[in-house]
Amino acid sequence: MESQQAAYELSDRDREIYGWQLDVPGLGERGQAKLRSSTALISRVGGLGGPLALSLAAAGIGKLILVHGGELRPDDLNRQILMRHDYLGKKRVDAAAETLRQFNPHIEVETVAENFNEDNAADLVARADIVFDAAPLFEERFLMNRECVAQRKPLIDCAMFNMEGQVIPIVPGETACLACLYPEVPEHWKRRFPVVGAVSAVIANIGAIEGIKLLAGMSGVSLNRLIYFDTLVMKLQKVEIARNPDCEICGEL
Ligand SMILES: [Zn+2]
Repeated sequence: MESQQAAYELSDRDREIYGWQLDVPGLGERGQAKLRSSTALISRVGGLGGPLALSLAAAGIGKLILVHGGELRPDDLNRQILMRHDYLGKKRVDAAAETLRQFNPHIEVETVAENFNEDNAADLVARADIVFDAAPLFEERFLMNRECVAQRKPLIDCAMFNMEGQVIPIVPGETACLACLYPEVPEHWKRRFPVVGAVSAVIANIGAIEGIKLLAGMSGVSLNRLIYFDTLVMKLQKVEIARNPDCEICGEL
């Protein structure tokens, strides 16, 4: 992440707002300046991407690009914590942006009222320093993976099911990519899945932490590891993963 170390100088207001995290070893003023000068793209701001975006906003990431199509439905509200009941029937991405802007008016929030797709993929990834994948569909996740690898942008892939979830930090050329692990869409993958909001928020925040460490230049990012958390029995595992030299997406890097 050395390339996006823009010459950002922390202001007195930054020091006031982010003072408690400036004391975190390895983060400090230099790391905070990197966060303030970073742009993060979050694909889907629902059960996973919503709490993820909130934590990025809290950390002071300079700009968030929220990518999410569709209108808010009652059955979104058990987990999509950026939404509000009075937004039912309105665009989800607008509700998410309003919550984030109220929470932290000192960051920039941009909205894209459609999901990540073949037509917008290249342009959206080009505008971000890092991509957070919180999309439920494998087709979308594969597309994000392909585009991030092509543009050498880090990708934090987050997924959950039932009381479990997983996070894979992907740095093209250094780590396995999503296609190294899943050459094709796994069988029995369903659009609708069992989920409690507290569980998706935990997984989201594991993803947010890995992304913040990566952006701030901190150590400890779980590279070539799949982080798996089973909240039913509260067991966290880090599973070693390896690049596939024959991977169709990243094999040539
Ligand atoms: Zn690969």
